[in-house]
Amino acid sequence: LEEQLRQSQKMEAIGQLAGGVAHDFNNILTAIIGFGNLAKMKMKPDDPQQVLIDHILASSDRAAHLTHSLLAFSRKQVLLPKPVDLNAIVQNVGKLLSRLIGEDIELIPRLTGQGLIVMADEGQIEQVLMNLATNARDAMPGGGSLTIATEAKELGADFMSSHGYGKAGKYALMTVSDTGRGMDAKTRERIFEPFFTTKAPEKGTGLGLSMVYGIIKQHEGFINVYSEPGKGTTFRIYLPMVAKATTEARAEPEPLPRGGH
Ligand code: ADP
Repeated sequence: LEEQLRQSQKMEAIGQLAGGVAHDFNNILTAIIGFGNLAKMKMKPDDPQQVLIDHILASSDRAAHLTHSLLAFSRKQVLLPKPVDLNAIVQNVGKLLSRLIGEDIELIPRLTGQGLIVMADEGQIEQVLMNLATNARDAMPGGGSLTIATEAKELGADFMSSHGYGKAGKYALMTVSDTGRGMDAKTRERIFEPFFTTKAPEKGTGLGLSMVYGIIKQHEGFINVYSEPGKGTTFRIYLPMVAKATTEARAEPEPLPRGGH
């Protein structure tokens, strides 16, 4: 537990730092992009120097992408949460994931439980799945399988305190596992840190799992990883389920009392 606490304090501190830098840097980028566009507008359309500005703008775009990822990690992004069915999200993004992982990797959905309703930003949960699938693909260069399973879980106070997690209650559990190369303990400890990567610089930024971590935290959920070299990797993501009454109230608002003078 002490180890877990230290880990989460470390992530908190890095998050604060990264969020602050990303926020300020974003403002600077806005100026660069704005003045870049203005400079382009002031040039004659056939000016050969236009291409220089285009390089500046393209690089700024990449930088904006990085700051966006960092903001997701430090939980400084705006979420649009609404009650959504987790299985529906997995199904909707399935095609995209299949294309992402390629033909040599089989995507196996194991969606159980009905009405796995969570309060979530659908786009962000899709982002989580895409990031996990990208890593799974990179861990299985010779092919394999990627399984995405869902189920409802009642988590008791004992479980929560022994893991250093949040409130006990009903959670939707999403398990994402691959049959890839796995990781050793040293790698496993650092995977959620921003900029930690074991990939070649042009292949990895080290921000994928940081984003995942931040997004899940912002949803008041939690994530853990089981992995061993040669044995594949399993990520478990818990998202708090919405109490049934809440979703029904949202879906079918009580009719207002009628008549009566
Ligand atoms: P990136 O993918 O850019 O390296 P991530 O934050 O997504 O950044 O991942 C960090 C590191 O975690 C990866 O470089 C890799 O070493 C390890 N990793 C993540 N997912 C897996 C996986 N499914 N199997 C093996 N290693 C993984």
